[in-house]
Amino acid sequence: MNKKGQLIVISGPSGVGKGTVIQKYLASRDKIVYSVSATTRKPRPGEQHGVHYFFLSCEEFEQLAQQGGMLEYANYNGNYYGTPKAPVEQQRALGNDVVLEIDVQGALQIKKSCQDALLIFIAPPSFAELEARLVGRDTEDAKTVENRLNIAKQELKCAGEYDYVIVNDTVEQAIKRLEQVISANRYHKNNMKEFLDEVNQNA
Ligand code: ADP
Ligand code: 5GP
Repeated sequence: MNKKGQLIVISGPSGVGKGTVIQKYLASRDKIVYSVSATTRKPRPGEQHGVHYFFLSCEEFEQLAQQGGMLEYANYNGNYYGTPKAPVEQQRALGNDVVLEIDVQGALQIKKSCQDALLIFIAPPSFAELEARLVGRDTEDAKTVENRLNIAKQELKCAGEYDYVIVNDTVEQAIKRLEQVISANRYHKNNMKEFLDEVNQNA
């Protein structure tokens, strides 16, 4: 009905399970793609350039941002992270939904610049569980975990800026909730503008 794909922004504190939920959700669906971000942080073991992130130097990142190549970008815990603009626009024009997994600063930029974006916040069942997941993932040193938990406290306070809050208690439940929200949003008035304009033109 509507030709342009949805722009779906997903945030949540580090370790809440965003990556786990999103990858599982996307694996069994078509017409929906993951936006690969650029970052200046170092790859974790197993992370591949172009798949998990585009791993750039600071100079490369800043150049791309200055040229207007980022839909949004932010500094998170000492590193740049940003969404390359061109692939998002290309995919949406093809009618594919695009998922951005980005931090709160980036999401708030998108909220201002893209009125039709759907903003989803993934919350942990409790702060203690968040801490357990982040420590259990074992990808960061103790200092980085502490920094990420401090950032998480600030991010949790921003959940009210989002359209929907999904609790990741179990991955299966979180995926079900995500499916419901994304399906309903397809018929949000902001995503039906193109269709309504066409009907009105021919009235
Ligand atoms: P994020 O992308 O938000 O930083 P991850 O997807 O890397 O988080 O998940 C952090 C850790 O929590 C991983 O070890 C993951 O396996 C685990 N995890 C994710 N979702 C759940 C869940 N619902 N219950 C228990 N553990 C989870
Ligand atoms: P991580 O280092 O754990 O992969 O990501 C750290 C934080 O950066 C997470 O909150 C993640 O959502 C966010 N992030 C990842 N990509 C982007 C991006 O393109 N833009 C912004 N603003 N944040 C991002």
